[in-house]
Amino acid sequence: METLTTTVCVVGGGPAGAMLGLLLARSGVDVVVLEKHADFHRDFRGDTVHPATLQILDELGLVRRFHELPHQKVSTIGVVQDGKRINIADFSKLRVRYPYMAFVPQWDFLDLITAEAARHPGFRLLMRSQALGVVRENGRVAGVRVSGPDGELTVRSTLVVAADGRHSAIREDVGVTPRLIGRSLDVIFFKISRRDTDPDEGICVRIGNGKVFGATDRRTYWQMSYETTKGGFEDVRRKGLDAFRADLAALVPFLADRVHEVSSMDDLSLLEARIDRLEKWHQPGLLFIGDAAHAMSPVAGFGVNLAVQDAVATANALTAALLRAQRTGEPFDDSRLAAVRKRRRLTTALSQGLQRATQRFGIDDALNGSGQPPAPKLFEKFAPAQRLMSRVIGLGFRPEHVRTPEIRQREGVQS
Ligand SMILES: Cc1cc2nc3c(=O)[nH]c(=O)nc-3n(C[C@H](O)[C@H](O)[C@H](O)COP(=O)(O)OP(=O)(O)OC[C@H]3O[C@@H](n4cnc5c(N)ncnc54)[C@H](O)[C@@H]3O)c2cc1C
Repeated sequence: METLTTTVCVVGGGPAGAMLGLLLARSGVDVVVLEKHADFHRDFRGDTVHPATLQILDELGLVRRFHELPHQKVSTIGVVQDGKRINIADFSKLRVRYPYMAFVPQWDFLDLITAEAARHPGFRLLMRSQALGVVRENGRVAGVRVSGPDGELTVRSTLVVAADGRHSAIREDVGVTPRLIGRSLDVIFFKISRRDTDPDEGICVRIGNGKVFGATDRRTYWQMSYETTKGGFEDVRRKGLDAFRADLAALVPFLADRVHEVSSMDDLSLLEARIDRLEKWHQPGLLFIGDAAHAMSPVAGFGVNLAVQDAVATANALTAALLRAQRTGEPFDDSRLAAVRKRRRLTTALSQGLQRATQRFGIDDALNGSGQPPAPKLFEKFAPAQRLMSRVIGLGFRPEHVRTPEIRQREGVQS
């Protein structure tokens, strides 16, 4: 069986794993990123790039190239209740360099990050390479067993970072289980074409008749979501497509003339939205970040930003020690791993608390049939609530900044 040796093996090429791979590689740390899929092309993964992530791209010298990608800028997130729109977040009021949320297909964002990482000689991205479990040696994790395109291989490393998302295989292999926070939701995604005569809505959630539909303006189409209680997808199946289309037409009237574009159940993609969190984010030789450490729900859409921030905090905390271990061959000091959770724990708990509260006082009340959840009205009457939400969604509770250097002189770096 083939064996690769590196300093850090990152499992998962999502926002957390790809960003960590770039940050480590640009500072001279050898890193292998494993991604089980053949490419980054997957729908409904969260295409939002927040003001705080834009700031990080700026700090990495990537913001101009990012803005060259086809993208849309969205300044507000609103809720339509009783036919009236209430803005719950307005990023244009934030005093930041990039006061908007950019929508970019997540595969373009990940391609940009991994292409930048690939300029550094210590970076290797292995696609179609699925982590099966960890390798242990002397009581610590010392690598990963991988099923790759040419068979099984072992990646041996000083540190394994599990960034393999909400259904983390590494988490399961080492036998740790996250604590579920609140109740899960069924979220059904679908697309409907956009016409020039449609309103300019940005991101808007429509509440009424015991239903919740989200609509995100993607210029040529509407990315739609339908939020329902766990198991609600079965209800949709049972009641049939005509009932679903009628609900959609009632709540989003300007789409009434094209609800038939949802022509079969296959046009509806079901994703489970859950919020959970690990108590402990590390073991000797192993660290969890992003959704693998704390799954985020799509509510208020800030899981991608949180995953990127985890990656930045990880690089800031560990790069120097990893470089030392790489250069001297001395053992890596595992006690340093606790610093990542310590830095990110409060911001994660507050972010998840906000998602849970939004779910409880917004979505759950709306689904209970009253159609009159109190939360949106709060934003209308109480201006600081909108300012807080703009800040939390746009920047997070504790925005991270890139503190690690780029080793430009390193042999082989391509400009
Ligand atoms: C329905 C839904 C909609 C959402 N919408 C938004 C949104 O609009 N905005 C937002 O900010 N957040 C959104 N979120 C949350 C967001 O998707 C996550 O918080 C974010 O993607 C976490 O990033 P990550 O890198 O930690 O994990 P992921 O994005 O899940 O990436 C994990 C990566 O690991 C790979 N992988 C998994 N297992 C293995 C393995 N064994 N070996 C190798 N590779 C593996 C996966 O293929 C994937 O590429 C949404 C979540 C859900 C469920």
